[in-house]
Amino acid sequence: MSQHILFDDIDEPGLATLQVYERRGGYSSLRRALQMSREEVLQNLLDSGLRGRGGAGFAMGRKASFLPKGTMDKYLVCNADESEPGTFKDRELMQKSPHMLIEGMVIAAYAADANRSFIYIRGEYELQADILEAAIAQAREAGYLGERILGSELSLSLVLHRGAGAYICGEETGLLDSLEGKRGNPRLKPPFPANQGLYQGPTLINNVETLATVPHIIRMGGENYAKIGTESSTGTKLVSVSGNVQSPGNFEITLGTPAREIIYDLAGGPFPGREIRFWFPGGSSSPVLLPEDLDLAYDFNTLAQAGSMLGSGAIIVVDDSVPVIDVALKLAKFYKHESCGKCTPCREGTNWTVKMLERLETGEATPMDLDIIASVQQQIMGNCLCVLGDAMAMPLGSMVARFRGEFEQHIEEARFRAGLGAPPEPSEVEIAGVGN
Ligand code: SF4
Repeated sequence: MSQHILFDDIDEPGLATLQVYERRGGYSSLRRALQMSREEVLQNLLDSGLRGRGGAGFAMGRKASFLPKGTMDKYLVCNADESEPGTFKDRELMQKSPHMLIEGMVIAAYAADANRSFIYIRGEYELQADILEAAIAQAREAGYLGERILGSELSLSLVLHRGAGAYICGEETGLLDSLEGKRGNPRLKPPFPANQGLYQGPTLINNVETLATVPHIIRMGGENYAKIGTESSTGTKLVSVSGNVQSPGNFEITLGTPAREIIYDLAGGPFPGREIRFWFPGGSSSPVLLPEDLDLAYDFNTLAQAGSMLGSGAIIVVDDSVPVIDVALKLAKFYKHESCGKCTPCREGTNWTVKMLERLETGEATPMDLDIIASVQQQIMGNCLCVLGDAMAMPLGSMVARFRGEFEQHIEEARFRAGLGAPPEPSEVEIAGVGN
């Protein structure tokens, strides 16, 4: 089921300008919020049940409530790095409705008592950064940013910071280091950013979609917002669908919608004559699911119970024309390239995994190598400083476990080609006449 809240006006011509955004009711939620106390605004966020839309799915209102009281500088940072492969929904939001994000940030800053804010945007998003720069200038001019916003006690600065483009700068503490002008390396936690974040000060970090949802929560009221979706996954979600589907794109769905509806009804399903082999439900770092999982409800808890995750809300569909080893190798190479190298299991584990998968291609591997690959993924998981190591190990481990037969067939064929083994038996895929 698709319900439009964030995307209600998204294709309105000129929505990126202040004039059109205001005409469509923009900044009325900020006016309403400023008539409430900070505590009331925060209570609305808590009541809404809004969970972070960037990947971790932590309750946004609770996160905002963790910032300590006091008169020190406090920071709100918007994570606009959107580096998870397959995820491109924040790009559309920032490009088409930048004021929705700015309005959400001002309200969130009010709730968290933050007085300085930043948007950290990936270097590749040049167009979106230019649009945001213009929108920030318009908002400042109109009194929605700066000193004593709309005559209230709230003052907030907002700075747009362009990153250089690195997966690890989407990790919140790597992002903070990069924002401070250092190399983007994740920090050891605790301390958590709520206590010691940007410039050692209390910091609330949220994703673009999360913050863009805030004005709608104030408009609807937190309790009403919570009536949408499921009990533990409230509201709507922007889902990026890519891969082997006929109509890839961003779609706003009610959380709890069956994944089949998203992939088939909204994204057009696989191409004629093709079948879905497997799919990533939450970006390339989520363990893969199979066609029999397509009727699962697309929400945080259901996908976790199925052994995967909703992550950043990016479905990548892989059909039966794609060898699973190609996907595994591409994925491993990506994470090896993006590993910051700070901790050993990730730095060495991603490197070994690529080398072992390449052995599968050259014919040097035997089926025992699959056990070693699976064991390396086990050694990585839960033993890294940040989530990047797990981001490779979880999907890779799931692919080896679910498609072991295809990996073994690939090994036999590669060994035969290299003159190291007997001719392989035809695979089930070849017998069925698909997979080429
Ligand atoms: Fe760096 Fe990887 Fe360790 Fe994260 S898990 S800190 S990316 S080496």
